[in-house]
Amino acid sequence: MPELPEVETTRRGIAPHITGNTVARIVVRNRNLRWPVPRRLGSELGGQVIESVGRRAKYLLLTTGNGTLLLHLGMSGSLRIIDAGAPPAKHDHVDIVFTDGYALRFTDPRRFGSLHWTRRPAMQHRLISALGCEPLDEAFNGDYLHLRSRKRKLAVKQFIMNSHIVVGIGNIYASEALYMAGIHPARAAGNVSRNKYRLLAEVIQEVLNDAIDQGGTTLRDFVNGEGKPGYFSQHLNVYGKAGEPCISCRVPIREIRQGQRSTFYCPKCQK
Ligand SMILES: [Zn+2]
Repeated sequence: MPELPEVETTRRGIAPHITGNTVARIVVRNRNLRWPVPRRLGSELGGQVIESVGRRAKYLLLTTGNGTLLLHLGMSGSLRIIDAGAPPAKHDHVDIVFTDGYALRFTDPRRFGSLHWTRRPAMQHRLISALGCEPLDEAFNGDYLHLRSRKRKLAVKQFIMNSHIVVGIGNIYASEALYMAGIHPARAAGNVSRNKYRLLAEVIQEVLNDAIDQGGTTLRDFVNGEGKPGYFSQHLNVYGKAGEPCISCRVPIREIRQGQRSTFYCPKCQK
């Protein structure tokens, strides 16, 4: 599943190729994504210039003078720049064709992705307006996590995966960051110290930035690539490693369930 680093890498991969370009037309081959592709998309986006390619959480924001296209990659979506005449494959559901002869092609085998159109500022859209902090923004730091977690009995892992608090911390990144910060995933969020939250915010930014840097090496794949841009295989210390020795203390890694998701942690290194 594309996580925040893949979405950010996608943004950086496509932005130089479509910013300033004029949309000629939209080709929708399958409207039935997670939500139906809006029928007015062609008339709203056609003829518009892409002014910027932004991101909020895992939404890509293609802003024009007429409104903004919000695009979510879902579970299996990807975007590529192609020659507009390139024949579509089975899961190539939407093309945004530009007047320069290239197109932005949206491919999504599982169809959990979605496209939305809004004429209002994107930050006011119902899918975006209630979202918490961006983890790579300066406003996201240990003091913020400490302040927002006071008196909360929720497990710290579920707290940092709550998108009203901070966006884009997926299940794997949550387990890995808590391991690196030495925090037990089931500890009550309100019972984690300010210093521990400072460390946690730092390692969250570190693992996300590492993944984005790693993805930077794949940016050329966004243009006329043979396959799809791959999702990153990051180095994992605990995730998926139940029973294997902790790389730090050799005690076997444990797996527990939290909110129907698997959590992996070291019972000795994480308190
Ligand atoms: Zn350990």
